Amino acid sequence: MIAAVYYGPNDLRVEQVPVPEIADDEVLVKMKAASICGTDLRILHGDHRKYPLGTVRIPGHEIVGTIAKMGNKVRGIKEDQLYFIAPNIGCGHCRQCVSGNNNLCSNFEALGITLDGGFAEYVRVPSAAILQGNLIPVSTNVNAASAALIEPFACVLRSHDLLNVHPGDTVLVMGAGPIGILHIKLAKLSGASCVIVSELNEGRLEQALQMGADFGVNPLNEDLASVVDEKTGMNGADVVIVAAPAHIAQESALQLAAVRGRVCYFGGLPKEKPTIGFNSNLLHYKELQIYGTTGSSTENCWRAAQIINSGRMEISSLVSLHFPLAHAVKAFQKAEDRDALKVVLEP
Ligand SMILES: [Zn+2]
Ligand SMILES: [Zn+2]
Repeated sequence: MIAAVYYGPNDLRVEQVPVPEIADDEVLVKMKAASICGTDLRILHGDHRKYPLGTVRIPGHEIVGTIAKMGNKVRGIKEDQLYFIAPNIGCGHCRQCVSGNNNLCSNFEALGITLDGGFAEYVRVPSAAILQGNLIPVSTNVNAASAALIEPFACVLRSHDLLNVHPGDTVLVMGAGPIGILHIKLAKLSGASCVIVSELNEGRLEQALQMGADFGVNPLNEDLASVVDEKTGMNGADVVIVAAPAHIAQESALQLAAVRGRVCYFGGLPKEKPTIGFNSNLLHYKELQIYGTTGSSTENCWRAAQIINSGRMEISSLVSLHFPLAHAVKAFQKAEDRDALKVVLEP
């Protein structure tokens, strides 16, 4: 089969590799779509802690496919079904796994992160993943490329579980990449009456407005705080989501939030400079609630799939480009330039 294999920083090679062998209790999935994530770009640049120097591995953790082969001890999996594969496999018995937060397991494995992933014609799904419910059915009205976005959407859903967007809320989303757009769409679905988006890239700002944001602000040309004041009658945003890895965005979020507002730091900061400065009195006197979330649990993926399968949230417009797996290197280059939202590899 062909696969896109990581050999080291900025060294991704499309090559022939053996089809993975499976055990009696495993399945082999034929990849139908695998989307490129910001995490994959970090991996390619040699910036991922699970890809230390010397790692040779197939990335790809946003995977959709059908069953090519099934071990004779596997139960409950249908041969003619399209599946999304939740990437995280917890140890299953630690406190985080038992509470359903397998994305926080300290001994986790994940497809495309610690195990060979989806940028290949076939993917081996280990027994633990099958038993933990990682194979999630995709309904026939959803195409494979859109279903690959269940993973990033699950990460977004995880933070909304804490943020509790109420009908009538004003939501500010900072950053209009694919993640920012998913936040905008979910906020609207939850009943937000006004969604403001801030983004430095004009093309992305325009896209965000087309995809449901009510107001767009480019902080290079306009004062974000004045716009938020104007749109909220000087109250501030009920919910502020920082979906951009920027210090200034994280710092200003506390000012832009309303009294009793909820703030989520969705993205991490570069590891060389992870600290910010903020006025702690804002937190105290405004009774702010600040949350962080990272990745998604398998439970988050199941609920994200339910929303996508229901057709209640349109997601296919986030897929900007499709590339055959053989052109994975080119696809990564396209994902790198900020014009495309999601770039999807297909066999
Ligand atoms: Zn991802
Ligand atoms: Zn665990």
